[in-house]
This record gives sequence, structure tokens and C-alpha cells, in this order.
Amino acid sequence: PYPVITIDGTTASGKSTVAKEIAKVLGFTYFNTGALYRSVTWKILALGYDVHDEEKVVEACRRLNLRCVIQKEDSFSQASILVDDQQPTEKELRSSEVNEAVSIVASYRKVREWLLPFQRELAYKEPLVVEGRDIGTVVFPESPYKFFLDANLEEREKRREEQGERDNVAQRDRLDISRSSAPLLCPADAVKLDTTKLSAQKVVEKILDILWK
Ligand code: C5P
Repeated sequence: PYPVITIDGTTASGKSTVAKEIAKVLGFTYFNTGALYRSVTWKILALGYDVHDEEKVVEACRRLNLRCVIQKEDSFSQASILVDDQQPTEKELRSSEVNEAVSIVASYRKVREWLLPFQRELAYKEPLVVEGRDIGTVVFPESPYKFFLDANLEEREKRREEQGERDNVAQRDRLDISRSSAPLLCPADAVKLDTTKLSAQKVVEKILDILWK
């Protein structure tokens, strides 16, 4: 497989901004696994399932056809997810319905197991910067380039508000940290960065410094 840089962390800790920029600078493909969980959740909701019904959700997921398309623009390459040949819009992926349901769907062990080979396959196609919650611990544990971002809750809530999004940051963190399958935690061998007082640019610089050393 190609090299993989993993960027895990709490909700609204700055992962996406930083991961995209690192991918741009290195010419790697950006893969947002949060968007993968969101796309699946969006489809499950659109099909009318109750996300609390684990058995039905797992069954429905297994019937979905997931595909990944690499979109290449001038200086940026990213992985886009299609569910049953549909690509949800950014607005659909970040709706309050999906924000509320995604961590419930993501807590189901069988959903996570189903998504595992899909995520790993991509590393056979492209060098990657992968952002998520369990990338360094579960999806690509052998990667030597692991980072973990966190910031205090107040700052993270402020960031989401500024983005104009209705999102219960604390509740999503709680669900992500407390689930039994692949809980959110900092990999033992990751570089941990507190982004509370750092600009995204500063975080990018720190990560590039470490990678280039
Ligand atoms: O990163 P983002 O906030 O878009 O992720 C949405 C949700 O998807 C997270 O709160 C988490 O429940 C789930 N997720 C996950 N594992 C990942 C990425 C996201 O469980 N690798």
C-alpha cells in the first residue's frame, strides 16, 4: 500500500481544515471518513429507518452499494463517496438530522466492520491523508504518521457555531468516546496537538515540520 497519514480527533478540533491542507501540500489524496459515516447515515434516514434499530440498520447497510471516486482538481485530490450511485450534497451531509444520527449509526460494531475493508482498499490506490476517529487505532494502525487533534469544548462549540451548523458537539463526543467498538482515543504512538489556541495554519506547519524531520 501507499503511505497513509492519519489525523484523528474530537469533533470540530480542526481535523478537516488541517487534513485538506496537508494533502494539498504533499500531493496526497484527502479522505474524510466522517463523510463516509455521514453518507451512510443520510441514506439510512432517507430510506426511512429508525437509527436506533441496530439490527435493521446493519441489515440495510449491507444492502447498500458503496463506491469511492477520486476527484482530482488542480492542486487537490479527494475521495468522494457514492451510496447506491448517489452523492449526497455537503448540505445534506451536515444537516441537523445527520448530525444527530451519525454517531448512533457509527456506534454499531457491524457497521464499522462492514466499512473497514472499504477504507483500507483506498490505500492501494493513492497515498492518503485520512481523517476520522479510529484511523490510527483501527483502520491504519501500522501507519508511522499519526496525529491526534483536540481543543477545549468551548472553543470547539464556538467553531461549529461560526460555521452556522446545528451540532451537539459534546453529545457526539460522548457517544464517540463511550462506544464499545473502536472508541475515539488517541493512538499511543500519535503526536497529540491541542489546537485551542492555534490557528489551522500553525497546526499545519507543526505537522509538516514533524513529517519532514
Ligand atoms: O468527522 P465528522 O464529525 O464528520 O464525523 C461524523 C461522525 O462519524 C463522528 O461523530 C463519529 O460518530 C463518526 N465517525 C467514526 N469514525 C470515523 C469517522 C467518523 O465513528 N473514522
